[in-house]
Amino acid sequence: MSLNCDIVMDCVSIYKDGLASEGTKKAVETHLKECPDCKKYYRQYDSIKHINTSNQIVSSDDKTAKFAAISSVLDARRKLFNACFAIFAAITVASVLFGIIVGTRSKK
Ligand SMILES: [Zn+2]
Repeated sequence: MSLNCDIVMDCVSIYKDGLASEGTKKAVETHLKECPDCKKYYRQYDSIKHINTSNQIVSSDDKTAKFAAISSVLDARRKLFNACFAIFAAITVASVLFGIIVGTRSKK
């Protein structure tokens, strides 16, 4: 199963945070082995995340701003997680339907 680069880049954050399902992990790992662009993004992700975390610490004197920043990050992650979950659910359903169709046809 090959994934679109945009989907893989979106899934890298949940993959890195250990929130990805087994299916997502395998699909992302497989894609990263084959795609140099996504591999580069994956390697840079830790430093990007580190910069974002530092910015939050800098603005920590303003508790409201910090809370807003954290909740926006959590909200974005939740959306990403839901998007990835929906994509894999759709792929699973499509695979099952395809299997049923092929299975029904081969019996005839
Ligand atoms: Zn890619």
